[in-house]
Amino acid sequence: MFAVAALIMFAAGPAFPQQPDAHAAVTVGTATATRGQVAYGVISIPAAMDSATSLPVAVVNGARPGPVVALVAGSHGTEYTSIVALTRIIGRLDPKTISGTVLVAPLLNVASFTQMIVHVNPIDGKGMNGQYPGDPAGTQTQRALAAVADQIVKQADVVVDLHGGDLDEDLHPYSYWFRGGQAGQDSASRALALAFGLDHIIVRDFDLSDAASRRNLGGYAMSLGKTVLVAEAGRSGTVEPEDLRLLMDGVLNVLGALRMIDRPVRPVAHPVWLDASTRLAADSAGMFFATVGRGPRRRRGGGGLHDGLPGTPDGRGALARRGGRHLHPRSAFHVEGRDARGDRTGAGGGADLPEARELGVSLPGRSAVAPSAARSLGGRHR
Ligand SMILES: [Zn+2]
Repeated sequence: MFAVAALIMFAAGPAFPQQPDAHAAVTVGTATATRGQVAYGVISIPAAMDSATSLPVAVVNGARPGPVVALVAGSHGTEYTSIVALTRIIGRLDPKTISGTVLVAPLLNVASFTQMIVHVNPIDGKGMNGQYPGDPAGTQTQRALAAVADQIVKQADVVVDLHGGDLDEDLHPYSYWFRGGQAGQDSASRALALAFGLDHIIVRDFDLSDAASRRNLGGYAMSLGKTVLVAEAGRSGTVEPEDLRLLMDGVLNVLGALRMIDRPVRPVAHPVWLDASTRLAADSAGMFFATVGRGPRRRRGGGGLHDGLPGTPDGRGALARRGGRHLHPRSAFHVEGRDARGDRTGAGGGADLPEARELGVSLPGRSAVAPSAARSLGGRHR
């Protein structure tokens, strides 16, 4: 929208200095903010085939024109650090001094939050980061995401999607560099990842011609030409001050890098670029004991031990042995396993112990990343 506005101003030339301001008033749901104002409200999703929901939103409309940035969290409603970070960031943004507009949606998956259900919306069992562009005639998740797509994503130039290490994820903070193969877009996303400030950055490539890669928020927003940043800090149901600071400072750094606020930004000097397509799986179901912490120290061995299920003979085994940095060992105690044919037993893939293999390259640009980074990721972001 900003690019369009700039284009109109350029085309009109200096003979028409008073151009209409496309963002004189910005509305998301029930929140409308004029220039220099903050408005709070909700996106109401009426009941249909299942129950209604109401997503909290805020619009911080800067006094001066500039980019429109959407800040989104809580598609996983038990990733508390990200939800708290965006709730608190609203009060840290002074619309009188901002150039541009900030749309804030700190909690998409309200039922996950209120019922303490991980990963999915318990109303319909769907992942709220895996159903874009949504469906106005669908289930609650699909209806909600259709509204998020229309009212938030489409209005934005930049989409920041925050996550917070879920109840079962003992997570080391990292961000993602999402790449879709468009040089300008990829370069802008890379710059925001470096500005955000987390030194571990997972490189993830998307084939945006594949509908499956447009189902998560980042991929969907990229397919619309938006600049995307995804970052994650927090762990296991906690809201620790340091994790909170990382996310809040990261958001302010993004706004600083976009020159929407007056904030000097020092991009990460020595990023660790990671390919996180590797996850370790247990051989069988059982109880899991992590032998590595959340830190990114390099380990040659596996990431944990597991016993059988409660009440079975004590048969301790190791998870598959691989080297790498363990970005989030599983903190939940029970793991699913794989059956004799190697298929994962149970739903949800709980056996996985995510790790990230270091690419070992510094990236001046796209070509420096090993082809292995092009593999698509499974995992939590659905
Ligand atoms: Zn998440």
